[in-house]
Amino acid sequence: MPIREELRMPRLSVEEALDLYERADLFELGERAHAARMERSNPNVVTYIVDRNVNYTNICITPCKFCAFYRTPGHSEGYVLADQEIDRKIDELAEIGGVQVLLQGGLHPELPFAYYVNMIARLKAKYPQINIHAWSPPEIVHFVALSGLSLEGVLRELWDAGQRSIPGGGAEILVDRVRRRLAPTKCSAQEWLDVMETAHTIGYTSSATMMFGHIETLAERIEHLERLRRVQDRTGGFTAFICWPIQSDNTPLRGMHVGPYEYLRTQALGRIYLDNFNHIQSSWVTMGEKIGQLALRFGADDMGGTMMEENVVSAAKCTHRTNEARLRRLAREAGFQPRRRSTFYEYLEDPQEEVVAA
Ligand code: SF4
Repeated sequence: MPIREELRMPRLSVEEALDLYERADLFELGERAHAARMERSNPNVVTYIVDRNVNYTNICITPCKFCAFYRTPGHSEGYVLADQEIDRKIDELAEIGGVQVLLQGGLHPELPFAYYVNMIARLKAKYPQINIHAWSPPEIVHFVALSGLSLEGVLRELWDAGQRSIPGGGAEILVDRVRRRLAPTKCSAQEWLDVMETAHTIGYTSSATMMFGHIETLAERIEHLERLRRVQDRTGGFTAFICWPIQSDNTPLRGMHVGPYEYLRTQALGRIYLDNFNHIQSSWVTMGEKIGQLALRFGADDMGGTMMEENVVSAAKCTHRTNEARLRRLAREAGFQPRRRSTFYEYLEDPQEEVVAA
């Protein structure tokens, strides 16, 4: 569908983005974001991936104030999943034709770097049809400290073991004033960006995220977008941007809350600003199915994962669930053809409609 001329926008500057967000109403932002989405991605299609999260450990030495998932070393509720348990979860994913496992965990103080390399190699050999989307930048920065290798050395070892993509978690807001207050011992904004840029240079793709609605200013949200856009200009390695509001229950930030209105406006601004990103994922996991569907008219062209299991935002009492049939129905109701995709946004064979029509 051709974009209407009056909606076509030159690249926004930081100042223009601030002005647009403050001045434009919900519908103007939505219309502009939708026009950008129709230009950047297939206008007829909404994609999703059949995947599963596996959180291999919740033990973490970096207590982030917004995190209800982690346990400190020695805590009675701390765990590290055994290989058999990880395999059992991936077997279940394989049975339903899943193509991606998202491996993320806390920053465990004792597991050696070899544990992570061996896990990639073992899972790649056992499940060649499933992409291991693993270790967000804070984990990779932790591996650098554990191993004594350089950042590039760590990423090359994981690449040689078979890893090809990196989830964009742990970005929160890529401004150190915010990071120092929310997660003072976590990687800095520049370290997060360096992981992604180095990974892209090696050949990895990654997503990029933003968790907002806490102590950041609007200008800092836009700075976050600007820093992502600059890396993407150099590498082109980000596949998608995903934003979601903080889920603060069971955390010291309890009470901080952003509703659908601000979520939709923020996602729309992200779509408009990130003019070098092809895909925007809606966040049904945090916002629920209906707002996740509405987000398809506010710049998103992808519904993310079916996610058989989710442990991180559900620890903060955010427990939305869906399945493939429902995601397909949501896309169709919004006027799009649903398509299964890979981590790398290739279209895959879709399930029989009669199977998913329920
Ligand atoms: S967000 Fe990640 S790094 Fe921060 S406390 Fe939770 S598990 Fe640890």
